[in-house]
Amino acid sequence: MAKQVLSNVTILEGEELELVQGYLVVRDGSIEKISEGSPSGRAIDLKGGFILPPFVNAHTHVADSVAKELYLGRTQPRVVGPGGKKFRALGSRSRSELLASIRATLQDMFRTGTLAHCDFREGGAKGVELLREASHKAVKSIIMGRPFALEELNIVLIKSDGIGLPSLDAFDEGGLRSIADQTKRAKKFLSFHVAELTSARDEVERALELRPSFIVHATHANEEDFVSVQKNGVPVVFCPRANSLLGVGVPPIHLALATNARFCIGTDNAMVCQPNMFEELSFAWACIRRANPAAGGEEARKLLKAATIEPLKLFNLPWGPIEEGGSATFMVLTRGNNLTDLTNVHAGLVNRARADNIRAVYASGKIL
Ligand SMILES: [Zn+2]
Repeated sequence: MAKQVLSNVTILEGEELELVQGYLVVRDGSIEKISEGSPSGRAIDLKGGFILPPFVNAHTHVADSVAKELYLGRTQPRVVGPGGKKFRALGSRSRSELLASIRATLQDMFRTGTLAHCDFREGGAKGVELLREASHKAVKSIIMGRPFALEELNIVLIKSDGIGLPSLDAFDEGGLRSIADQTKRAKKFLSFHVAELTSARDEVERALELRPSFIVHATHANEEDFVSVQKNGVPVVFCPRANSLLGVGVPPIHLALATNARFCIGTDNAMVCQPNMFEELSFAWACIRRANPAAGGEEARKLLKAATIEPLKLFNLPWGPIEEGGSATFMVLTRGNNLTDLTNVHAGLVNRARADNIRAVYASGKIL
């Protein structure tokens, strides 16, 4: 495919997802040109659709998909806590059942516009290998391993992209410190679930002392915590649907917005909800508006950035924002019946766009 011109489209350009109404030229895997107006010559008419960066799901547990809806009638600790239902379910399934379930979940991610996800994989080095084996050719898996004991840390670090711990109580203080030091030395990612439960006081502060690459949840973090998070430049990954379905609360995304803290969006346990970023964004948007009715187009733009742009730097992904000279990696949405007459594009997209709006996903100029 030498050259393709996509016209009559709204492009969400650059790091700030600025709106350009016009056309985009793809040549040899890169974006050659972005311009307002209409192109001269042959072009594919996208009929008022949208071109935006693909989604990055910053927090998943995809293997949980083997036991969907097992959370019913149970509190969060009884589902995903130590010895919880989830671990008994995972332990009772065969390796081939787990692989099949993970593959179906990764395919669902791909079908809903996600080209990368960061997974907290349990089960030590073997758990990391399982997800590596299930890998999807279009969806990049960034795998955070969880060592059973400190003795296993080295091998998990070699096989994984980093360490993702279920909580700051997973190891004693000395153990945590040594995990943090060795992970840093190996130049891998370090993260924890933080302040997911109400009982989790001072957790953000404790987590920041370990200099993580990012923290997950912060459901019960307060404004002061977000100020520290912002000062430390540590991104927070919010998972509003999973938090709500597990009954632990609603993450204060509005506080991250108010304090200018960096944040991303994840879908958490696939046992609880599908890793569909369109649904996560629309739910997150409702959470923001519930806490702050003054939230408008600017907040919606930042929310969309959290699902597309912010994770690019965090995970060193091989594509960038949509800009001239950049990789032609993006998704094309049709206007459909749901995206007509939008008075604000960013808010309209986070609130109303769905997977059935996807017309194509491009990676380095090729339609996947
Ligand atoms: Zn999680």
